Amino acid sequence: MSPSPPWRAAALDALERERFDILVIGGGIVGCGVARDAALRGLRVALVEKDDFASGTSSRTSRLVHGGVRYLEHGHLHLVFESSRERRRLLRLAPHLVRPLPFTWPVYEGARVAEWKLLAGLTLYDALALFRNVGNHRKLTREAVLAREPGLSPEGLLGGATYWDASTDDSRLTLANALGAAAAGATVLNHAAVTALTRAAGRATGAMVRDDGTGREVTVHARVIVSAVGPWTDALEALEGGTRGHAVLGSAGVHVAVPRDRVGNRDAVTLVAPQDGRVMFVLPAATHTIIGTTETAARGGPDEVRATREEVRYLLEACNANFPAARLGDEDVVAAWSGIRPLAATLAEGDAGSASREHTIATGPLGMLVVTGGKLTTYRAMAEDVVDRACEALGEHERPGRPHREVLLPGGAMRSLSATEHEAAAAVGDAAVARRLAGAYGCDWRDAWRPTRDDPALRERIDPALPYTMTEPLHAIARERAVTLGDIVIRRTHLAFETRDHGAAAARRIATLLAARLGWDARRQRDELARYEREAERVFSVD
Ligand code: FAD
Repeated sequence: MSPSPPWRAAALDALERERFDILVIGGGIVGCGVARDAALRGLRVALVEKDDFASGTSSRTSRLVHGGVRYLEHGHLHLVFESSRERRRLLRLAPHLVRPLPFTWPVYEGARVAEWKLLAGLTLYDALALFRNVGNHRKLTREAVLAREPGLSPEGLLGGATYWDASTDDSRLTLANALGAAAAGATVLNHAAVTALTRAAGRATGAMVRDDGTGREVTVHARVIVSAVGPWTDALEALEGGTRGHAVLGSAGVHVAVPRDRVGNRDAVTLVAPQDGRVMFVLPAATHTIIGTTETAARGGPDEVRATREEVRYLLEACNANFPAARLGDEDVVAAWSGIRPLAATLAEGDAGSASREHTIATGPLGMLVVTGGKLTTYRAMAEDVVDRACEALGEHERPGRPHREVLLPGGAMRSLSATEHEAAAAVGDAAVARRLAGAYGCDWRDAWRPTRDDPALRERIDPALPYTMTEPLHAIARERAVTLGDIVIRRTHLAFETRDHGAAAARRIATLLAARLGWDARRQRDELARYEREAERVFSVD
């Protein structure tokens, strides 16, 4: 066990001492969103997360805040309407983390989605966004498609269309909600698992929580308990002593990252996979291209989900068929990872691909509110519904206002992202680092950069090819509740997704930095690096 920083002991004391209105279990996007909404409404809130914020599905997404063009095919119009509204809101509430992204959809001869169908679908897509998306779709000629994306195969290309969605940093969006919840008064603790529920008169009254660092166990008392554990829902329901059968239908999705210059995509491209006609994406991620995703029934539990060779090859083949010069092979894969969509089993009909991404809120046998399903994009709306239900259970039907709809996420108070990037560039003198700082921290970028004034060594890049600097790990520990190297290398930054050794060298450099600045001794460094290696193995190894 590693020594615990003082703020963790204080949080554990608070968890033990206080009587909460709501205890949220799970620090993915949904749990963090619920905690923030409830705290902003003035409720006394606790949130515990067994690993790190976003360590589950919420760091394995396609990083899109999107209306969900794919869901039109399955007739999930309400979901597209809700997602489009949330996309519009999040672009405003977190302009540093949620940014407009143009897509090109090429149409080839014999494509499953013909051009007329695509254009009709995109007209509906714009209509469901009330024509208030960043821009409306446009039909493209064959030449216009190739001018936008010269790497696409010209053979059999008929034309296509362009439309708008938004990209995000899934882990940092989740973190922003966790930090926003704490700023609004919630007690928020990562690396602290619920091991049992406490009960009285047939109702859950709280939970036993175990701190991972020290092994200390505390009992948390709360009037309402919310399960927001995504793919772990069935496991948590088992703690309630009964299960409604499967509450979640685990559908696994794999992504791969490859060097962007190999694919040559300029923006995002929507493809129809030649193997099976599935809609998938080729997405820009700075110097990398992310290709995803697959959709198969999850094998094994959510703690052990990994990509398989077969899934990786499927993605590479689909990309190669559309970007023939890429000629991607296994050796080009920088990283591959898998996540489980916690689809609500009650909404599932047919296969996982056509199952609804809408959410449900059920009441467990001990009165726990169990939220399942949804999407990263709709987390805020889900949170609002959950907190409304919690207020009903608390007998507070009139809890006023919907502050969650209006209060900017931490870092979001910017004139514009480009203005913030310019300011940062002037101070930092490195455009890529400035873009990273503005994009990750928004208007708070100076907090991360300030320590470099007295300590210029912190300006150094952690990896020479990537824009993360040595100041970020210290900031993550001091201000963003990072505890382990994995918290820093996988989720506060994306170093692990963008390096072929999955962040191993970066983790070593950071451990040396933390030894010098925070007094980690040789044993602590060794233990933390071994822990990192295990986590990176778990997330990035391919079966
Ligand atoms: P999770 O993020 O899994 O969070 C649950 C948390 O509960 C975990 O962190 C876990 O550690 C914690 N937990 C479990 N048990 C306990 C316990 N006993 N005590 C304490 N904590 C516990 N949606 C989009 O809108 N856009 C996309 O681009 C997109 N792409 C996707 C791509 C893939 C491949 C997948 C799989 C999903 C994608 N989604 C996307 C959907 C989206 O990612 C999920 O709907 C969302 O992240 C689920 O969040 P969650 O909080 O419910 O679950």
